[in-house]
Amino acid sequence: MTNAVGTTVISNGQLVIGTGAAPIPNGYVVCVDGKITYAGPAAGAPKAAPEANRIDAKGGTILPGLVEAHFHPTYFNVAALEDLDIKYPVEYVTLLAAHNAKLALECGYTAARSGGSLFNIDVWLKKAIENDVCVGPRLASSGREICGVGGLMDWNPDFRKIGMEGLVLLVNGPDEARAAVRKLVKDGVEWVKTYPTGDAAAPDTNDHHTLCMTFEEMHAVVATAHNHGLKVTGHCRATEGIKNALRAGYDAIEHGTFMDDEAMELLLKRDVPCVPALYFELASIERGPEFKMPQSVIDGHKETLEGGAESARKILKAGGRLGMGGDYGFAWNPHGDYAKELSFFVNYVGFSPLQVLTCATKTGAEIMGRGDEFGTLEAGKLADVLVVDGDVIANIGLLEDRRNFLAVMQGGTVKAGRLV
Ligand SMILES: [Zn+2]
Repeated sequence: MTNAVGTTVISNGQLVIGTGAAPIPNGYVVCVDGKITYAGPAAGAPKAAPEANRIDAKGGTILPGLVEAHFHPTYFNVAALEDLDIKYPVEYVTLLAAHNAKLALECGYTAARSGGSLFNIDVWLKKAIENDVCVGPRLASSGREICGVGGLMDWNPDFRKIGMEGLVLLVNGPDEARAAVRKLVKDGVEWVKTYPTGDAAAPDTNDHHTLCMTFEEMHAVVATAHNHGLKVTGHCRATEGIKNALRAGYDAIEHGTFMDDEAMELLLKRDVPCVPALYFELASIERGPEFKMPQSVIDGHKETLEGGAESARKILKAGGRLGMGGDYGFAWNPHGDYAKELSFFVNYVGFSPLQVLTCATKTGAEIMGRGDEFGTLEAGKLADVLVVDGDVIANIGLLEDRRNFLAVMQGGTVKAGRLV
C-alpha cells in the first residue's frame, strides 16, 4: 500500500485524536506524504503550502480510521454455521473476501485483525491489499482455526466424510496442536485462532462448555506459536476456558463472556486485550427466529449478551483494554454493519462515545501490534483518517451509515467517502 504524495489539510471539524482525550472543537490535521505532521487546534496550526489539498469537514468530526478487531473477511453472510465449510469452493470464497474487505474500508475501517479465516485466504488478501491489487483495511491475518476433535467447530459426524478442510484444524492432544500451529506457520499467518470453549450458537456445546480444547493443547499452541513469533487468541466464553487461555499465555481473548474475579485478575495482570463482539448476540436474539434458531439457542444468546456486557463493563472500569470487533459475516449479522457494535456499546452496555471510539481505534491498533503506526491522530502516524459529516460524539450512530462519510483516508489517500 503506497502512501499518498503531497500535503493534505483537513479542517473545520471537531477532532477526536483517539487517545480518549476530549475532542478539540476546531481541529486541524496536516498530512504530508501519507503521514500526519500535525493534529491539533486550528489556532496554532502550521501554515500549509497553498498547493495543498484541502478537505472541509463541514463542521463534522475528524477521527482516526476505525479498526475492526474481530474481522472475518471470508465469512460470507452464512445463514447457518455449517455453510461456512461446504457451500462454496476456495475460488469463490476468495472473491467474496475481497468484496468484504472493500466494503469494510468503505465503512470507515482502515485496519482490521482477522478472527479466523477459511482456507488460507486472509494471508493472501493481506498481500493483495498491501500490493494495491485490491482495497481493504490494513489486515492482521489469521488462518484456519484450531479446535479439539468433538469441540465447537467439529460438527460433522464421521459418516458424512467431511473433514472441515477449509475451516478448522482439528487436534487431539498437544502433539497434534503443535503440528497444527506449525502448519499455520508455513501458511504465513500472524494470529493463531483457537476454540477453547463452546458457544450458545451450537446446541451440542454451549456457552459454559469449556473442554473444546484441553489446557495442555492450548499451552502447546502458545509455546509453538510464540516460538515462531505468532500471536494466539481464542474463542473464550466459559469461565474455566478463559482462565485456561490466560494461564496458557494467550495474547488476546475473544468474547471473554463469563469472567469471575480470578479471570479478571489474570486478564489485567498481563494487560491482555479482550474483544467482546456483543452486537452479534443481540442480532442473534432479534433475528434468530427468522433463521429458525431453536429457542434454547436464542436463550443462550440472551445469557451470553448479559454476561458479556457485564464483563466488558468490569474490564473498562478496572482499566483493562477492549477492542471493538463484531464477528460479522452471518446472515443476521452481515458485513457492512460493523459500526453497529459501536452504537451497541454506547446504547446498551453504557460506554461513553469517546470510550468506544478509543477502543475502536487506539486499542484496535495495539491489538494488531501496530499501535505506534496508526490508531490515533498524532504527528508521525500514518494518515488513516475518517471524516464524518456530523457530530459523532453526540450521535455515534452516524458511523453506521457510510453515506455520512466525507472521506475515508488511508496513508493520506482518500479511498472512499463522498469526496472520492
Ligand atoms: Zn469470530
